[in-house]
This record gives sequence, C-alpha cells and structure tokens, in this order.
Amino acid sequence: MTTTQVRAACPLDCPDTCALLVTVEDGVATAVKGDPDHPTTAGVLCTKVARYTERTYHEDRLLYPLKRVGRKGEGKFERISWEEALDTIAGKLTAIAARAPEAILPYSYCGTMGLIQGESMSSRFFNKLGASLLDRTICATAGFTGYKYTVGASVGTDMEQFQNAKLLIIWGGNPIASNLHFWTRAQEAKRNGAKLIAIDPYRSLTAEKCHQHIAPLPGTDSALALGLMHVLINEDLLDHDYIANYTLGFAQLRQRAQEWTPERTAATCGITAQEVIDLARLYGGMAKAGEPVAIRANYGVQRVRGGGMAVRNIACLPALVGAWRHAAGGMQLSSSGSFPTNKPWLQRTDLLKKIPRTINMTTIGDDLLRPASPDFGPAVEALIVYNSNPLAIAPESDKVMRGFLREDLFTVVLEQFQTDTADYADIVLPATTQLEHIDAHTSYGHLYMMANNPAIAPMGEAKPNTEIFRLLAAKMGFDDDCFKESDDQLAAQAFNTRDVRAVGFDWDALKRKGWQKLNMRDAPFAQGGFFTPSGKCEFYSAQMEKDGLDPLPAYVPPYESVASNPALAARYPLAMISPPARNFLNSTFVNVKSLRAAEGEPHLDIHPDDSAARGIAAGDMVRIFNDRGSFVAKARVTDKARAGLVVGLSVWWKKLATDGKNANEVTSQQLTDMGRAPTFYDTLVQVEKVSA
Ligand code: SF4
Repeated sequence: MTTTQVRAACPLDCPDTCALLVTVEDGVATAVKGDPDHPTTAGVLCTKVARYTERTYHEDRLLYPLKRVGRKGEGKFERISWEEALDTIAGKLTAIAARAPEAILPYSYCGTMGLIQGESMSSRFFNKLGASLLDRTICATAGFTGYKYTVGASVGTDMEQFQNAKLLIIWGGNPIASNLHFWTRAQEAKRNGAKLIAIDPYRSLTAEKCHQHIAPLPGTDSALALGLMHVLINEDLLDHDYIANYTLGFAQLRQRAQEWTPERTAATCGITAQEVIDLARLYGGMAKAGEPVAIRANYGVQRVRGGGMAVRNIACLPALVGAWRHAAGGMQLSSSGSFPTNKPWLQRTDLLKKIPRTINMTTIGDDLLRPASPDFGPAVEALIVYNSNPLAIAPESDKVMRGFLREDLFTVVLEQFQTDTADYADIVLPATTQLEHIDAHTSYGHLYMMANNPAIAPMGEAKPNTEIFRLLAAKMGFDDDCFKESDDQLAAQAFNTRDVRAVGFDWDALKRKGWQKLNMRDAPFAQGGFFTPSGKCEFYSAQMEKDGLDPLPAYVPPYESVASNPALAARYPLAMISPPARNFLNSTFVNVKSLRAAEGEPHLDIHPDDSAARGIAAGDMVRIFNDRGSFVAKARVTDKARAGLVVGLSVWWKKLATDGKNANEVTSQQLTDMGRAPTFYDTLVQVEKVSA
C-alpha cells in the first residue's frame, strides 16, 4: 500500500483557514487532520472538517452531468454526457448574449474561499460574455464598509497575539462554533489571567464560557458603542496622546457621544446602565494601566439595518483608549485586507467591453421576479450558480423559490451535491471538492498565504470550476490566451510579489510547505498609519459625508424592532436571529448524516416568559411566521435567548428541514445602511404552537 500525506487548506467560509494534512492510501483519502506545524491550526480541526472524507466520499456526491426531466424543484434528473451538457449551455448562453448579455447572471459566493476555484476563470468567462455583475454582499460588506471608513482597510490585530491580551471582548460572534482557533487563544488568555466578555443577544456556547455576558437587543450594538464612548470621554479614560496624533474628529465625536448617556444607551439596548458604565471603566481603565485590551468583532453585529455603523462605532473604541499601541490590543474584524492578491489579473476585469449592470445577490428573490424595464434592464434569463446555495441561504426564501420556478429561466448549477438549489436547475454539473483540485487561499482570520494540493483524483466525472469555465469558454469560441491558463499558472500569480507583504511568495515553494506568513509588522497601528484618506483613525469621515451618510458615529435603529416599528411589533413582537449551527457551515455539511444527527432537527430557542405566554412547552413543534412566510421548528425553552428574542440556528437545507422550509422564509431583503448587505438579524416574527 502506498501512503502519502498531502498538504491542503480548508476551503470553507471560516476565518481560521486551517492547514490540512490529508492521508492518502492507494489513491483514497482516508483522513483529514490539522497540520500540527501550522501556527494557527496547531493540529486541530473543527468537527465538520475532521469529517471531510465523509463528505468527499458521500454516497450522494454528484458524479455526472445531469439534465432535469421533472418539474423545477422536483429533483428529477437524468445523466447526460459532458458534451451534451456543455453544448446545451453554450447554445443557450450564446443565443441570450447575442440579444442581451446582461440577461445572464452568475451567482456565487464562498462555497469555497479559494482564489482559483472561486472567482478566477469564472470571472474571466462572465467578463468576456458581458454578463451582469453580481454584488457579492451576502456576508461581510456592511461591516467591511464601516470598518473601512474608520480604519481604512480590513487590517487589525494578528490572531496570533490574542492569547497575550488581558481583556478580550468578543462582540457579535460565537467562536466556539465559527472561529475555533481564535477561541483556543482566548482560552489561553483566560488561563493567563485575562477577562473574557461576550456581547451577544444570545447566550451562545461561547458566551456561556466567558466571565461576563452582555446581551443587547439585536441591532443596538452601535448604541452600546456610543454609550461606552460617553463614559470613556466623561471619565477621562482616554489616551490623549494617541487621540491627538493618530485620530481625526475627536472634538465632534465628544459632542456626539454626550447624547448617549448610560441611561439612554441602556434603554435602547435593553441592558442596564451599570453594564455600560462597568464595561467602559474596565476597558478604559485597563488600557490606561497599560494592559493590552482587544476586541474580536464578528459579523453578528452587522446583519441589521445599522450594521455598517455598528462596526464603525466599535472600531472607534481602540483608538480612543490607545489599544492599538499593543500587538495584543486593538481589534480584529477581518484580516482579509492584509493580503496583496492579484484579483484584477485573476479575474481579468479588462475583458469587460463596458461596465454591465450589477445585481445584488441579497435581493435575488426580487430580481429574479423583475420584468425587463428601462431602470432594471433585461429580465434575468440565465443563471449560473456555483459555490452557493441561494435557495437555502438567500433571504425571503419564498420569492427566491418563485424566481427559480420561472419556466423561462435557464439555470445551471455547479455542485458537489443535489442541494435545494440544484433541484431547480436545468443542467447540473458535478464539481470537485477541495481534496480533488488545486487552490490558493488567503484568510480572513490569520495572516498566512495558503496552498491546497489535490490529494485524490476527481470523483466520477466531476471537474474543478476552473475547468468547467475553460470548457465553456472554448465551446463559446472565446480564444483569448487567458482561457488556456492552468490552475497552477493561475495560482502562481495569485499574490502580488511587488508588494512587500507577499515578498518571497513562490507557488511551488508554497505548495511544498503549505503556508507562508505575510510580511507585516505586529501592532499595525501602534503609530497610526491607518489606511484612511487622512492616515488617521477617522472618528469624523469626510468620505461618509460625501456618500450621504452621517460622518460621525451614530445609532441607526433596526427596520424591525419593538422600538423602531411598534405597529409591526404589535403583530410580530419577537426579534429573531439565525446564527450558524455548530455542526454546519452556512448550508454546507447539512447533508452529512453524522453532523446533521449532532444538530438533531431545526430548533427554536425561546425564553420561558415568551413560551409561557404562548402556551408552548419544551419539545413542542412551533410555527415561526411573519408577512414574508413561515417555518416549523421544535421549541427549546431556555433563557439562553433573552426575553423578546427567538433564535433558530442555521442554515438548514429546506428539503432536510421539518416542513421543507428554513429560517430564511421570514428574513427580509432590506439592505444595511452601508455595504448593500443583508439584514438577516433584523426580523420580527410571531411564534405559535403547531397543533398536533
Ligand atoms: S471550518 Fe474553520 S475551523 Fe473548521 S477546518 Fe475549516 S478553517 Fe478550520
């Protein structure tokens, strides 16, 4: 027997981007383990990816091209050849492109985070075609934008420093479920005497293990940050030298913060004034004493109307107290802006003959149902879905489904499994998993460039996304040289070696070693050097003013809350959030039996006061509903959900859920204050017991 170990990288939408070691015995991958030598992975994987072979060799893997023979959504398909599949797709797209190329829409996100199997050959293909552009906003753009206005780029505290912090505020995230290797360092910090505080409307697994849990109402984090600023300023818990040298607009901020007394903050957030005061005193006091204080902000805070502003406000705090002076202080939202990637070259934006319209992936429900009009342009006639499962993950699911049901819509889905979305395809193309293809990766949690070597041959007739778009390009007569480049050639130019951060990057060496750390200094803003127009942390942002936004930190109330929309709340009085279930990663892994078994079935966590008021007992089946739709889950009566809040851990495949529906039946397509992002946690619902 020949046994080898192959260096790989986790492709999933998780900040940790683990380095993997894949054991291959006679061409079969038998184990996937964390690389013990990679500093952030440290030999540990989450339970999901530790079972990656179960997923790769799953009996339901799609192994051949398929064409639909039943009704859309019915899931009836028959095997066809690659030749027939490619001819059919190329024929359809060529005909549509001759009339209206913008009627063709790619739909993709982070099913893989890889630079190569994500947006490289696919983007080249759609750019050449002149297809509509997709605004890929479904996760991070609100927070990204708010952070960018304030700090300048998604750069922050190095994950490898958090164990040295003395105060760690985990704001809007549940790292045990979705940032495991940060959590390892947080625990180390705890053992070293650090205090851990979780800010989250829900008492998550992480919040339970922190020293303190503060539970603001969803959508009120920006108010909490303003209240903290008020106390920091009024009690002079500030780093005046840092503020004077490295920030912009303190005088205006001081004035704005006066509006946010602890009492007003408490009333807005549904917490006590003392919680606001104590947190500010702890944070500012420790910073003043020279201790490293750090904030790990995550995307929970930004899935509401004011999500961009919430991240902006939080990002002002480290500059006020001078927390950036320490390598283990400051804040991390994402490290993605640290990587000098060569995306314009990978995606060949120069192939665009003109800038086509852009369709927001968050509003796919509305946009698939939109007729042609002078404002919108042509109706969407062809949809090519890869690395995404919009039927499960896009908001206002009923509209998404009605769009996919359109008989005049031609839908192609590149997939590893017959997902909810694949059921609506006209043609399904089998795609490889991470063990079967090459890729190069950045991370949004750590600072390593990563290589993924293929460990095994593609299963069945599955092909990498790149190869599928290469073949389609050839079928459509696109003869530019860029369509002939191999995955190795693409990966070799994934990073910009003229940038000092990627100095020494060499693809062959990266493939052998598996990773290479960016050349960056610790404590990136210890002496200012922010990436904003002024080079300072911008409490006042002229760019925001230009963009029609409040240039100062502000509170943007939710679209849907008891305080901001009492008329709606009279009918739908409970706020609902739908954070990630521990055993799923967005909608990936829901079809892996062992992981689904660990989750059990769709649950709704509801506070005892709210369940009692509705005659609901633990274990009852309940219907969660609003004007947009409904879904059924089993009630878990628990004070983990604060009163007035219900929590449905997600994202279930609809066809594997209790009633064929999931939490996105009730979420809305409204967008955030900035970044054009979704507002999944800005949702009012009512809950009722389902009669037997
Ligand atoms: S999902 Fe995250 S924690 Fe799990 S293996 Fe991938 S990168 Fe690591």
